[in-house]
Amino acid sequence: MNNGVANSKVLVVDDVPLNRKLQQAYLDAVGYEVLLAQDGVEALQRVEEETPDLILLDVMMPKMNGFQVCRRLKNNDTTRFIPVIMVTALNETEDKIKGIEAGADDFICKPFNKLELLARVKSLLRIKHLHDELETKIKELEATQRKLYQLAITDGLTRLHNYRYFNEQLLHELSRAKRHNLHVSVAMMDIDYFKTYNDTHGHPAGDEVLKTIADLLRTNIRKIDVAARYGGEEFALILVETTKESASVAANKINKLIEDYQFAHQETQPGGNLTISMGVASFPDDTQNPEMLVTLADKRLYKAKALGRNRVVLD
Ligand code: GH3
Ligand code: MG
Ligand code: MG
Repeated sequence: MNNGVANSKVLVVDDVPLNRKLQQAYLDAVGYEVLLAQDGVEALQRVEEETPDLILLDVMMPKMNGFQVCRRLKNNDTTRFIPVIMVTALNETEDKIKGIEAGADDFICKPFNKLELLARVKSLLRIKHLHDELETKIKELEATQRKLYQLAITDGLTRLHNYRYFNEQLLHELSRAKRHNLHVSVAMMDIDYFKTYNDTHGHPAGDEVLKTIADLLRTNIRKIDVAARYGGEEFALILVETTKESASVAANKINKLIEDYQFAHQETQPGGNLTISMGVASFPDDTQNPEMLVTLADKRLYKAKALGRNRVVLD
């Protein structure tokens, strides 16, 4: 991107060597970088290679005339904002109309008046650079927005997705499932006797457990599934295109993985092991209602607690 009008790149397209030379001399003298092309085909090539900031385009040329070149440039998303000044024969009104139709930004008549040429070039370059700056700002804004959104849907401690993202994705997956007759399952999980762990080893040690569990979830679900930290010590999974039967397999695998994992100081936990309880519910087998899906999985999670913890409850 170019901010100073003075060191802009200007492409001069003309089939007559003397015309090219003249324009080059005028532009060169005030500090522009000048590129040259002697016909339309070469002009398009140079535009692609060099992305000039402005084009001085002769109308009468062999192979492809100036109108054709202009139309091509203005129909292409990557080149349509490059200003084009059409170079026409004196007072050819018809040429000007054709030029406007082809998308030209301005005109200059031969024989060139040096000062007029420079003034028109400068004025269009100013607009071009404002446009470039605006485009840069918009891109920066979009990048910031993407970062903010990532922050807003990410849990700071575990870097898993958070409650908000879980809910967004669940609605999205459920409507997709309804449209295409697919299954979706949800698993809610909660660490067993986590208060004991925190009370015995301190909150920072508890945080390490949360991070470890997050990593275990992240690395043991499919890419299309969603793992989220739902609350303090609660996690949730969206198992996409997964029947209740398959969800049972997946949930039991994760439950076992955490049962088998050697967490630091877990020997002080009841039963000498740090474990989780899980509740699973599936669409459409259990319910057609999105809110009910989480409520049901939650109910089953508490049933798992009541039944003695470290287990998966499916109904
Ligand atoms: P249960 O088996 O019934 O789930 O018992 P519990 O002790 O896990 O349940 P309880 O609801 O009594 O305690 C939850 C604990 O989770 C208490 C709270 O300090 C802890 N906790 C919640 N969020 C965090 C966190 O971000 N970091 C840490 N270290 N602990 C947390
Ligand atoms: Mg010509
Ligand atoms: Mg708990």
